[in-house]
Amino acid sequence: MDCVFCKIISGEIPTEKVYEDEKVLAFKDNQPQAPIHVLVIPKEHISCANDIDSSNSDIIKYIFELIPKIANDLGIAEDGYRIINNCGDNAGQTVQHLHFHILGGKKLNVEFA
Ligand code: 5GP
Ligand code: ZN
Repeated sequence: MDCVFCKIISGEIPTEKVYEDEKVLAFKDNQPQAPIHVLVIPKEHISCANDIDSSNSDIIKYIFELIPKIANDLGIAEDGYRIINNCGDNAGQTVQHLHFHILGGKKLNVEFA
């Protein structure tokens, strides 16, 4: 499958990992939009939020239980951070492998759209 994040998971494309286990990988975004910009992805290829259903939603729970731990490890838990998921063209999704952006390390803009 020609998916850049699957290639990061397989090691074909190198990346700066911040967390990894058998189900999830978190790594630094290579075009950071904040002092801390990390992407959290399931190792299972899910294209976007539209493809989350009862067959695969356990991984979403798993990821959202991990995010506070990753934020704590990154040193941004106390000051706060933003979790973003872009789904589809109008949201500007550029990589068709479900991912959650974690942004922090500064006071973020309040505008979402
Ligand atoms: P999207 O716009 O789809 O929500 O976000 C995709 C993100 O993936 C972007 O912030 C982009 O900078 C990041 N990205 C795309 N390709 C790579 C890559 O090869 N390595 C890393 N570390 N990040 C990537
Ligand atoms: Zn993929």
